Amino acid sequence: MLNDLAKVLLTKEQIDTRVAELGAQISRDYAGKDLVAICILKGALHFMADLTRQITIPLSIDFMAISSYGAGTKTSGVVRILQDLDSSIADRHVLIVEDIVDSGLTLKYLVDNLSSRRPASLKIVTLLDKPARRAVAIAPHYNGFDIPDEFVVGYGLDYDEKYRNLPFIGVLKPEIYQK
Ligand code: 5GP
Repeated sequence: MLNDLAKVLLTKEQIDTRVAELGAQISRDYAGKDLVAICILKGALHFMADLTRQITIPLSIDFMAISSYGAGTKTSGVVRILQDLDSSIADRHVLIVEDIVDSGLTLKYLVDNLSSRRPASLKIVTLLDKPARRAVAIAPHYNGFDIPDEFVVGYGLDYDEKYRNLPFIGVLKPEIYQK
């Protein structure tokens, strides 16, 4: 697996430190509120598990599985809901937990979809943001790291369902996805 990487972009230590900061900030911002954190599967699984353990106020968790890519490295713009939430989010404070915002198309779709369910509030936390690639005007409220326009894997992020179990974020060698 390691041979497929051009470099390590973010180490486990860098991720852990930033996730703890985000958890502390979210704990302050949502104190006294009915918070539900929604993990966008599969990519946000590892971030969700670590982030929620750094949040010190009560919260519920729920999951939504979507697909936007197939086996390529570019968003198709077509988002499919593969698995919907278990519970209603009406009148609750919703935090969408995403792995990465690239074109923003996936997030735009999610925000539109979840807003129609009348939550008390709706915000986004993403571990990674590629602002240079944005195709629609959407900005996460909490962002772990801005990263350059490179295809990254690890810490939940995949290429063709592989590399999710790397404990850090690495840049995939272009020859792997240009094959
Ligand atoms: P967007 O709709 O913002 O273009 O894409 C968002 C989704 O595309 C993310 O949730 C993620 O699944 C995938 N994605 C975007 N950039 C990358 C990347 O660099 N690496 C990986 N593994 N997935 C990415």
